[in-house]
Amino acid sequence: MKYNFTYKVFCLLLFGCYGSFSFSQGYWQQRVEYKMDIDFNVDNHQYNGTQSLKYFNNSPDTLTKVFYHLYFNAFQPNSMMDTRSRTIEDPDGRVGDRISKLNDSEIGWHKIESLNQDGVALAYNIEGTVLEVKLAEPLIPGSATVLNMNFQSQVPIQIRRSGRDNAEGIDYSMAQWYPKIAEYDEKGWHAHPYIGREFYAPWGDFEVNLTIDKNYVIAATGVLQNPNEIGYGYEDEDVKVKRKGKNLTWKFKAEKVHDFVWAADPDYTHKIATVKNGPELHFFYQESKKTEAWKELPDLAVKAFEYIEENFGEYPYPHYSVIQGGDGGMEYPMATLITGHRNLQSLVGVTVHEALHSWYQGLLATNESYYAWMDEGFTTYATAETTSHIFDRSDRTQARNFKTYVYLTQSGKEEPLSTHSDHFNTNSAYGLGSYYKGAIALAQMNYLIGKEATARALRKYYYQWRFKHPDANDWIRVFEKESGLELDWYLDYWVNTTHTLDYGINEVREEDGNTVVMLKREGMMPMPMDVLVTFSDGTKKIYYAPLGIMRGEKSNETDLERIILPDWSWTHRYYEFTVDSSKENISSIEIDPDGYMADVRRENNKWEN
Ligand SMILES: [Zn+2]
Repeated sequence: MKYNFTYKVFCLLLFGCYGSFSFSQGYWQQRVEYKMDIDFNVDNHQYNGTQSLKYFNNSPDTLTKVFYHLYFNAFQPNSMMDTRSRTIEDPDGRVGDRISKLNDSEIGWHKIESLNQDGVALAYNIEGTVLEVKLAEPLIPGSATVLNMNFQSQVPIQIRRSGRDNAEGIDYSMAQWYPKIAEYDEKGWHAHPYIGREFYAPWGDFEVNLTIDKNYVIAATGVLQNPNEIGYGYEDEDVKVKRKGKNLTWKFKAEKVHDFVWAADPDYTHKIATVKNGPELHFFYQESKKTEAWKELPDLAVKAFEYIEENFGEYPYPHYSVIQGGDGGMEYPMATLITGHRNLQSLVGVTVHEALHSWYQGLLATNESYYAWMDEGFTTYATAETTSHIFDRSDRTQARNFKTYVYLTQSGKEEPLSTHSDHFNTNSAYGLGSYYKGAIALAQMNYLIGKEATARALRKYYYQWRFKHPDANDWIRVFEKESGLELDWYLDYWVNTTHTLDYGINEVREEDGNTVVMLKREGMMPMPMDVLVTFSDGTKKIYYAPLGIMRGEKSNETDLERIILPDWSWTHRYYEFTVDSSKENISSIEIDPDGYMADVRRENNKWEN
């Protein structure tokens, strides 16, 4: 249900509306405050936790139930994750059939020992990775409640993202590690089971106290509150840290985030680099021959952050941590877990990609299940821009993304991007679609509305929607407003269909001393046309055929003369225009000379005399 005036007035007058988020434009979102105390046993890889969760219902609906994710329950034989991995045609090599072979001390689990609402015990039901809880008191719009939980968990062997003893010998990669309330938004509850991927959760603040064997170094989301009791590179200069007793309690706080990750290992090296006018970057890794490249990482990461903040918007948190752990690269608020045995190029590539997720996931927190392309795709686009800058190879900026997308269209595996992330037929359809077709959704804007409007709109989108949950329509509306063009058709074709683009030069003929160029739309998807005509004396002109349904044209960003032709209606496959010159005076005619349009068959794009 969207905003209505009556509700706003009612809510403001009677309840004061919890949370700091505005109700303007009809947008609302839930809010959480987590306080957790964790007592971790490194001998049996289990921990006891207490969780106090203050939950603010900013929705216009009365809630009678809430749902939590219990992610570690996925790492048990015959779980949905295990079964899906053993039956999908192209399983993730990291998972395969490994879950089916875990014994009791190797599986993961969460056990709920008690759960109450404002002191009243609650009835609940656990189905695999989802905990369903019936509230004792319905939660009316604009009210808040406190849910208190005691739980016990076992860390599984590292299979996917989180777990103990990863392939590089990191002891604990602690992602998806606590009972986490599911998101409720205008589309309802999103209590999706943990099968393969994608996370979506309410915004809020976290206070996490982790008690663990004092020989372990912890890297985490948030800012450490007791650095001078902890040391390990966190302490202030000149402070001598004495760690007494068997255990240490690490106190972390993170504000305005939607998740909390940590990792622990006794052998972490901790280095810090500072971005000018930006965050402190923290690096945690085990020093060895295989992690030599990490020595060069801080300088390049600083360079990357400077470029990213300048081009895509400011990073709002005080810290960002690059942590060796997990099984590849996975983004979390204020931190990433990446595998560390890499050459410099790969290490920088994965660090930049995961860091950029701070923008396109950490802050623009889309529902990844349905909009993975907005998260992975935009990150992939921005990664190509950033690494091209760092390694100085501007010629290849988006080329690989275009090529991989074209490969997907030819693979016979493509499914619409609107498919739920866990429900794609194959992992490759999800992967190639959300990363590469998603990257092109944005890259192609440079062609569709122009480079300047694209860069402006992308920043505007960030500042307008960060700390929120934008969906595809929110994104396209920013680009529409910034360009003054209608783009709903573009979103629809690109996301809801697998139609492709293929334009060609069908015929070039001379008529009365002029040259008539006939273009043909061969593919299902329409586009406006940039056609470059090069004359035999070396001069060039652009002939631009706007697409009627865009109700306008982009500005000319070249130094060349541009002739704006009449609109091309998408219903018409053929389109003719006349060049004021004889055919023999034209040396070539080319559609989209910069290669910014995702034309799946470029060989028919150029005519040469
Ligand atoms: Zn990613």
